[in-house]
Amino acid sequence: MVQKGQIGVTTDNIFPIIKKFLYSDHEIFLREIVSNAVDATQKLKTLADVGEFKGELGDLSIRVSVDKKKKTVTVSDRGIGMTADELDRYINQIALSSANDFLERYKENSNAVIGHFGLGFYSTFMVAKRVEIITKSYNEEAAAVKWSCDGTPEYTIEETSRSDRGTDIILHIDDENKEFLEKEKIESLLKKYCKFLPVPVVFGKKQEWKDGKYVDTEEDNVVNEVNPLWKQKPAGLKDEDYLQFYHTLYPMSFGDEPLFWIHLNVDYPFHLTGILYFPRIKSNLDLQRNKIQLYSNQVYVTDSVEGIVPEFLTLLHGVIDSPDIPLNVSRSYLQSDQNVKKISNHITKKVADKLEELFKKERSQFEEKWDSLKLFIEYGMLSEDKFYDRAVKFALVKNSEQKFFTLEEYKELTKGSQTDKQGDLIWLYASDLQEQYSSIEAAREKGYDVLLMNGQLDVHWMGLLEQKLDKTRFVRVDSDIIEHIIEKDERSAPELSEKQKELLSEVVKAQLPVIEKSEFSVDFKALGENSKPVQITQNEFSRRMKEMAAMQQQMAFYGEMPDSYQLVLNADHPYIKELITQSESKEKEELMATVAADAKLKQMIDLALLAGGLLKGEALNSFVKRSFERI
Ligand code: ADP
Repeated sequence: MVQKGQIGVTTDNIFPIIKKFLYSDHEIFLREIVSNAVDATQKLKTLADVGEFKGELGDLSIRVSVDKKKKTVTVSDRGIGMTADELDRYINQIALSSANDFLERYKENSNAVIGHFGLGFYSTFMVAKRVEIITKSYNEEAAAVKWSCDGTPEYTIEETSRSDRGTDIILHIDDENKEFLEKEKIESLLKKYCKFLPVPVVFGKKQEWKDGKYVDTEEDNVVNEVNPLWKQKPAGLKDEDYLQFYHTLYPMSFGDEPLFWIHLNVDYPFHLTGILYFPRIKSNLDLQRNKIQLYSNQVYVTDSVEGIVPEFLTLLHGVIDSPDIPLNVSRSYLQSDQNVKKISNHITKKVADKLEELFKKERSQFEEKWDSLKLFIEYGMLSEDKFYDRAVKFALVKNSEQKFFTLEEYKELTKGSQTDKQGDLIWLYASDLQEQYSSIEAAREKGYDVLLMNGQLDVHWMGLLEQKLDKTRFVRVDSDIIEHIIEKDERSAPELSEKQKELLSEVVKAQLPVIEKSEFSVDFKALGENSKPVQITQNEFSRRMKEMAAMQQQMAFYGEMPDSYQLVLNADHPYIKELITQSESKEKEELMATVAADAKLKQMIDLALLAGGLLKGEALNSFVKRSFERI
């Protein structure tokens, strides 16, 4: 007898909604029905474990097949199956409060619809014009039943013949979704969503190359790994296992070994398993986010994990599996969810533990890996207070001689020689060892140490440390002349009248070549007879602003500003001394002419520009010519 009825949806019709709003995610129908098959299989295993099912379990593989002629995709399992009554309860009665409410709440997020109301099965109507369920319960008295529905609320249920327990879901694919009748498409979806499901999923037969083509063998083509590494006990695993699993996750990562990994395994107060890998970072450019895959009970959900792991850890690779992350809600809801917060904090803590352990136990290895780790650690310190508190103990700085120090060690090293007259500890740094070579040498000669800060986040990180560490400032080694960079006592500036200053400034600037987008100010300082006559420095503040502007949109304004440099003339140098004396009596034109005549000042300025990497193009060419003429 054929029973007819209407699916119990209180909205007029659920199907247009499914078709309309789930448009972008059509492919997830396969994930939904295969994971239903997994659930049904595991329920049967549980019943067998507790003795409620006494029959043979037999081969429990889930089989997926495509029939291009009949235009069907079929998923078959040998799980618990359903009786007619259960079919009616689980499939026919979909309780939804009201269509409007439903649409309002979930229109942006198709994932939200599926699953939330037990609509997983109905997602099949995104791709199928008719769906049939042929099922037989494990309960031997129950008859096999066939359910059929053509995408309207009308369905039919009838008895059918089927001897074996389990369920077949048969999708009659509609014309707009023909792509799902391609074997390759289905195989790639199974690889994406079902790769680590806990029950074997079979798709056709394994193939072999024979007589110039691929032919099926006898052996089932199992697409998944039922016991993925993250579900196994860490104690029994070797490094090779983790490395191999890394390559399974990222088949394109030839030769790229991760630095190390963290095996997550939490039972309380939430469930979380997973493996996070620290990738080796070859350059600042090859950062890739979205390399963490999120699973729920081994079902692939997404590879965009923002909101679930802290932002800085989205740079890691690996797998997180938790049934406790509410997957079927919007991102903004996720971020406020307590469970998600706990999970996120837990992951942060585990990462800090691992780094600290590595630092304590294998410091030399930690240093070796520092260049790759640095970005995570700095990013983490900048974005998570809790991580800062942990990482401040093992974050390293590297000096221009490639030696590493913790912040505490570096303080010890420098506090004697680099504390200024206000009691501030001045940490000198270079961003480019070649370009700033002469300033670095000058600093070293003075007994100062110079750090290398050339990382992507270093400017921000130094800003953070200046806020957090007491009385500590970072100053780039070329931002002032070395005699002044760490001010130890009051220095006597030469006494110049305003008029003299103005005059000299004009005379000096007249000798500068044209340098685009740059501004120079002129200053006189008494630096001793043996110091250089002219030096060029760039103000720390304005340079940092510009560096930050390069990374942040809101600060673009600073990026447009010219670079401002200081031309520092040594009032104790004989030539400069003479210039100052002359400025007391001579008029502007006369002084300009004298300076231009011997071109000495020009040569000195060019040399200073050259040392600072600022002499280029035409100016450099004429400097070279002039120098040869002099020889
Ligand atoms: P959910 O899986 O979220 O409960 P679904 O709409 O996907 O929602 O499925 C509804 C119910 O139908 C399931 O909870 C299960 O009881 C039953 N069901 C679906 N597929 C199968 C299957 N292959 N075998 C046995 N029962 C199934």
